[in-house]
Amino acid sequence: MKIQPTKKTKFIFITGGVLSSLGKGLAAAAIGSLLESRGMTVTFQKLDPYINVDPGTMNPFQHGEVYVTDDGAETDLDMGHYERYTNAVMAQINNYTSGRIYYSVIMKERRGEYLGGTVQVIPHITDEIKRAVLQLDGTVDVAIIEIGGTIGDIEGLPFVEAIRQLRGDLGREYTLFIHLTLVPYIKTAGEVKTKPTQHSVKELLASGIQPDILMCRTEVPLNADLKKKIALFCNVEPESVITAIDVDSIYEVPLRLHEEGVDDRILEKLGIWTGAPHIRPWQELVHKIKNPKHTVTIGITGKYVDLKESYKSLHEALVHGGIANEARVELKYISADELESGGGIEQLEECDGILVPGGFGSRGTEGKIRAITHARQNRVPFFGICLGMQLAVVEFARNIAKLEGAHSTELDPGTPYPVIYLMKEWFDFRTGKTEVRDENSDMGGTLRLGAYPCRLIPGTLAARAYGEEEISERHRHRYEFNNEFRERLEEAGLVVSGTSPDETLVEIVELDDHPWFLGCQFHPEFKSKPMKPHPLFRDFIRAALEARQAQKERA
Ligand code: GLN
Repeated sequence: MKIQPTKKTKFIFITGGVLSSLGKGLAAAAIGSLLESRGMTVTFQKLDPYINVDPGTMNPFQHGEVYVTDDGAETDLDMGHYERYTNAVMAQINNYTSGRIYYSVIMKERRGEYLGGTVQVIPHITDEIKRAVLQLDGTVDVAIIEIGGTIGDIEGLPFVEAIRQLRGDLGREYTLFIHLTLVPYIKTAGEVKTKPTQHSVKELLASGIQPDILMCRTEVPLNADLKKKIALFCNVEPESVITAIDVDSIYEVPLRLHEEGVDDRILEKLGIWTGAPHIRPWQELVHKIKNPKHTVTIGITGKYVDLKESYKSLHEALVHGGIANEARVELKYISADELESGGGIEQLEECDGILVPGGFGSRGTEGKIRAITHARQNRVPFFGICLGMQLAVVEFARNIAKLEGAHSTELDPGTPYPVIYLMKEWFDFRTGKTEVRDENSDMGGTLRLGAYPCRLIPGTLAARAYGEEEISERHRHRYEFNNEFRERLEEAGLVVSGTSPDETLVEIVELDDHPWFLGCQFHPEFKSKPMKPHPLFRDFIRAALEARQAQKERA
């Protein structure tokens, strides 16, 4: 494959060793934020070794949240870290899986593009990977490429081979290899162990990659002697051995890495000259997080109560809402199944605000609806997101508008009042086409995905939160508010506060005679950042704080 580098973009490749879940995505995001703080432009790419074409069809239990981008890509949750820590905007080209790479190679083969040749992992798959990476060449100063999985995994090999080749193609001054490993602390011995790191670097060397910088995840700071030892065995300079210490808040990571000099090392090795870093905003942020003036408890009623990774962005957006209000947000996951079987009310009573997040499938539905009834009747601030909004509409229809048995057709196809249903035909603003779909359409194809404009009705909670008339938010759902019931529900008191510009899609609903009750069809959590908390999360947390205050005064 012929490569003509633009000589504008430098590439940092991040691999992981020893074991997974060391926080490679966070490390990549933090490095991006440090480079931005020095005036550089950055972007990211995640290369995931699994065979699914994208994580859209994967169970969040296994893979964590599916993160949605403006352009409607269903991506790995690391995209969320990248966007939260930097100004980079992620899209389809920022996340590739083995499946997607193979898919395009196989399509080419079927079209006869390989002219009768034997199609092989090297060079055809590796070239396709390189092509994917090089799409970023010329777009920014630094592109940070994260290789999913752990060095030594069979399935990651083509990616490792591709980045090895890229060093040759692009040149030393345009490429940098960072390897993230674990330096475990062994309690009984009272010391940290470097052997796993040595082994993992050896494994990387066997693939032809000598790391330039080692980032070592550890519970205790590595002293100079240890760094020297690791440096010696792994063939790097002692200054290039970076302690990646465990932190209380993930937003401390940029600061800790900066103290270790990681940005200096990167810039030096890539031959980049920049001004001094502007890390004040991160210091102020961490100070705020660590010194909250208030505490607030938010109950989340969902299907995946056990696995925080499934609600990554949601969790972060709530933390951001807390930051905006100088509050620490305590999250209480309440099992919808438990509520469904009649228990758990006392848990709801301990919450200052209740949130029903997005979800698919019927498990725990009646439990979630019970949580919504509780919030509505007891004037507890309520925030419904996607499925949470749909169920708020169902709850209102059943209990206030007296449409007995009202439901979403996703959850009860035979409901007499399908207040949430599958819109057969709708005009897609994003594609400029009228989309047609029904129950038999291809599963993935029928989702409304990505950013859509929404017009807000002045004077509503939504309009006051955003302070704007038209907004854009990201969607990932099939079912929609059924306009056939709009008048009846509005007459009964439901406030439609946001719609698509042509008014065919209801995007936000609220209640008037309630301190704060709002449901939105989109996922605002994908656009919240610690430095720029999302207005809906900010206002929801504020309302919850006020509710807590009022409760205290009554007591
Ligand atoms: N299951 C619902 C739908 O498809 C909601 C999806 C979601 O919450 N993301 O419309």
